[in-house]
Amino acid sequence: MQLRPFGDPARRVPVLGLGTWNLENDDRASAIAALRRGIDLGMTHVDTAEMYGSGRVEAIVGEAIRDRRDRVFLVSKVLPTNATYEGTLRACERSLKQLATDRLDGYLLHWPSSHPLEGTIRAFERLLQDGKIRSYGVSNFDVAGMEEAVRLAGEGRIACNQVLYHLGERTVEHEVLPWCQKRGIALVAYSPLGARRFPSGKVLDDVAAARRATPRQIALAFLIRRPGVFAIPKTSSIRHVEENAAAAEIALTDEEVRRLDAAFPPGPWRGLATA
Ligand code: NAP
Repeated sequence: MQLRPFGDPARRVPVLGLGTWNLENDDRASAIAALRRGIDLGMTHVDTAEMYGSGRVEAIVGEAIRDRRDRVFLVSKVLPTNATYEGTLRACERSLKQLATDRLDGYLLHWPSSHPLEGTIRAFERLLQDGKIRSYGVSNFDVAGMEEAVRLAGEGRIACNQVLYHLGERTVEHEVLPWCQKRGIALVAYSPLGARRFPSGKVLDDVAAARRATPRQIALAFLIRRPGVFAIPKTSSIRHVEENAAAAEIALTDEEVRRLDAAFPPGPWRGLATA
């Protein structure tokens, strides 16, 4: 599995990781087995959030990584309603407890909050100092939000921006992606398979068939071919996680990219799309 710098040249993270949204609704044993298989295949970036199943997903993740914590790049997120200075510190403690770990590798603000961002970032810095988190970032931030975050945190502090990005939803390519790439801030594509609606089509099927790959593998390869981009598909199926992991080995040709680009155009800029 290919690794690339994640907000810091010294921090290297696999291009494909594991999402966990709605995992609490799946068979628990299957979900845990799929996470463990994914980690064994190198998808060691595990993304969760205090919001997912109101903490139940963090507990499932904690169980899945118990005997392999050191291999995992573990990310959780604070809910915007909790993101005051004190609230962020408390939320992090809760997440650590649910995950049965003593530190997070990344801690993100889940989406922009009505609480001042200055307090959230001050809490992130405090958590860094205390060794509770190893890096921090944001999610669902547009360029104006990113500019404010970097102004408050300072250059080189914000590791990533996690945003909606898949073949059928390429809005981030207009502004957010180039802005992050220019500054070495990782862009993490969430819902990289379109969540409940996979963006299918004849061109995608043809490109996949010609390579003996699946359309989902091509859709993931399309995202992670770009420098600075990571993707975190969710699955509770071992078969699916093996399929997804293998997408990291696919290097699309310029011609394949051109065909996919034409079949799934980014469309006009309409502001940042979110889940
Ligand atoms: P996704 O990863 O695009 O799609 C997940 C769906 O695809 C599930 O129904 C899964 O079902 C299915 N799937 C996965 N691999 C498959 C395969 N190889 N073949 C067939 N079906 C497959 O959607 P997502 O869960 O919304 O996004 C991924 C992660 O991003 C989330 O889990 C979460 O960690 C994060 N996220 C963050 C935000 C945010 O605001 N920051 C928002 C949304 C999501 P099975 O389990 O049955 O395989």
